[in-house]
Amino acid sequence: KSKQIGKNTFSFFSEEMDAAAHKRVKVEKLLRHAIERDEFDVYYQPVVDAQQEKIVGVEALLRWNNPELGNVSPEYFIPIAESTGLIHNIGAWVFERSVDVISELSSVLPLTLKVAVNASTLQFRNSIWYKTVLKAIKTRKIKPENLEIEITERLLLDDSREVSEQLKAINDLGIEFSVDDFGTGYSALSYLKRCPISTVKIDKSFVTGIPDVKEDMVLIRAIIAMAHGLELKVIAEGIETAAQLEYLKQEGCDFAQGYYFSKPLPINELRIWLENYVSQSERLPNGLDD
Ligand code: C2E
Ligand code: MG
Ligand code: MG
Ligand code: MG
Repeated sequence: KSKQIGKNTFSFFSEEMDAAAHKRVKVEKLLRHAIERDEFDVYYQPVVDAQQEKIVGVEALLRWNNPELGNVSPEYFIPIAESTGLIHNIGAWVFERSVDVISELSSVLPLTLKVAVNASTLQFRNSIWYKTVLKAIKTRKIKPENLEIEITERLLLDDSREVSEQLKAINDLGIEFSVDDFGTGYSALSYLKRCPISTVKIDKSFVTGIPDVKEDMVLIRAIIAMAHGLELKVIAEGIETAAQLEYLKQEGCDFAQGYYFSKPLPINELRIWLENYVSQSERLPNGLDD
């Protein structure tokens, strides 16, 4: 069908655009009811100390399973949640769920997990976000140092008053921010010294280039050097192979995340993964249990 040319090309593309627009309207409608119909879930991907290979936390990643649409990727529905304003309630829901679940899990395991939650730029334009975070801290559901909020470069370029005030207010609660997908957005780096950032996350598109794409490896080295020079920590995401981890360790990367360690897991599977992980690392130091 894609071979159609000339006169037919226009109708072919417009049909396709029609279908996409239709789907979007439908998704919008279904997304409106996803919370009340209990269609969301949060998966958790382990984050590991790259040098010691010890688990330090998890990233919370939203999942949507709708009876009619099946599993819908967040890359597809988050932008729709943003353009419809649904992101405010959805963002609050992900945050509350993740904090509850991870603080509960931390209390039964011999380790404290830091939980990183993704937040959309728009959430910082609405006071629901600050109120949600404040409530979790005030009710002592979680300590601020066990919480991290992942934002994008785009947010840091937003110089509106509401955004910078809300960033500051949340940071004043003792919560740190990391810059997600670092290196893929904008080239102006001056925001790194203006904004309350503690960590940058090297995008997986760079990590994928190890060990074949020289340029990616050079960029990773430069990002780590710059971040450390500014006293920021570095997380590399999308690590899939031992060679990638090895290079990042050698370059002094602080934290690592990717399928090489684990895919994002539903909470019951994360628990099992962590229990295995903990019992392994308890055995390792004295070497008595082989
Ligand atoms: P992100 O925050 O950069 O999350 C990392 C994405 O990479 C996740 O995709 C994760 O499953 C995937 N990933 C992790 N390790 C590997 C690996 O080794 N190889 C490969 N190929 N992929 C890996 P996911 O869960 O589909 O999420 C996609 C994006 O959707 C996220 O990118 C984030 O921007 C957005 N998102 C997810 N949950 C939320 C949320 O609760 N709120 C907001 N605002 N955005 C979210
Ligand atoms: Mg993220
Ligand atoms: Mg990312
Ligand atoms: Mg991403």
